[in-house]
Amino acid sequence: MINTCKAALTDRGRTRHNRRRQRRLYTDKTMTREPILKEPFELKDEDRDLRPRHMQEMVGQREVYARLEIAVDAAGKRDEPLGHILFDGPPGLGKTTFATCIPRDLGVSFQVASGATLAAPKDLIPYLTNVDERSVLFIDEIHRMPKGVEEFLYPAMEDFRIDLTLGEGVNARTINMQLKPFTLIGATTRSGLLSAPLRDRFQMREHLDFYTLEELSEIVRRNAVKLRVEIESEAAREISGRSRGTPRVANNRLRWVRDYAQSKADGRITLRVARDALAMQGIDPLGLDRQDRKDLETLARVFGGGPAGVEAIAHTMNLATDTLIDEVEPYVLRSELVVRTPRGRTMTPAAFEHLGLSESASATKEGQQKLFE
Ligand code: ADP
Repeated sequence: MINTCKAALTDRGRTRHNRRRQRRLYTDKTMTREPILKEPFELKDEDRDLRPRHMQEMVGQREVYARLEIAVDAAGKRDEPLGHILFDGPPGLGKTTFATCIPRDLGVSFQVASGATLAAPKDLIPYLTNVDERSVLFIDEIHRMPKGVEEFLYPAMEDFRIDLTLGEGVNARTINMQLKPFTLIGATTRSGLLSAPLRDRFQMREHLDFYTLEELSEIVRRNAVKLRVEIESEAAREISGRSRGTPRVANNRLRWVRDYAQSKADGRITLRVARDALAMQGIDPLGLDRQDRKDLETLARVFGGGPAGVEAIAHTMNLATDTLIDEVEPYVLRSELVVRTPRGRTMTPAAFEHLGLSESASATKEGQQKLFE
């Protein structure tokens, strides 16, 4: 049908048709268009200071790095676009960093879009028509794209082609448009929300995990040099130990400790300075901040330690459920402070101990139930 429609257009007709299509694409007032970022990549200042620029400069995630290095090297040798890549894992572990280092290592341009702003296929068109040969299109939070946009991406990913429907009713025409071969890099904190057909179209799927204490300490030491602040190695370890296995958290803690050192001490980050600064921000020795502890305290106080549904907990904390799932839960689950059961989230004895509560002292469900007996 598509081919017949295309063949039926004469050259003159096709030119007119294309001009009309161009006009439609670029004058449509309803079309939202995210700024397209080409090198130099416009990241927030504080990110640009510390974010590694090449994969080789990245610390940790060695297995992921080794696989990507091979893929990047082979694609370069074949002069072909790299296969599509999907990164998943909790926030702040390096998905965007990998996605921005890869095009630099390949020596190609890249664009950045966010799944949250791609509400309809037309929002994706400018990105796709702007891709250069072998360039990278990075879609962050790709799980937030609606199904219609996902489906529009399928032929773009598989055959570097998009199918556009122009006009309505009997005048509707479908044309397909060839794109330059490109690489799509997707990042998601919830790969479970992606449809199976979309997941399957990524040649490589890489899961990023939390960093070890040694890896985070290395990141903190390197970033202290970039921020031009002197740091004791025990202090770097202390900051890392309280950074929930996450480089972004470590960077934020480091910046705060630097401010504290410059304001309250002689500018050097010693172990004492690091401890005092982190204590002042309410960051405990496990690295939990006020919000993490509020999650545990809510579960203990209101739900008697659980089981409780994640939405009920989020509502009680006055927090978006997504924030609780994406930002708070991965670390408390991994630290075995909370477990996920089919009936809901339940606190472990380690969590009660950490909060200095006894399991029986919390507002138990038994106590609440007795009220109604
Ligand atoms: P995500 O996209 O997974 O949310 P980012 O890639 O934005 O996380 O990482 C957040 C910050 O953490 C970056 O600005 C960077 O400075 C730092 N970072 C992440 N991964 C690494 C790494 N492997 N080595 C060094 N720094 C890292």
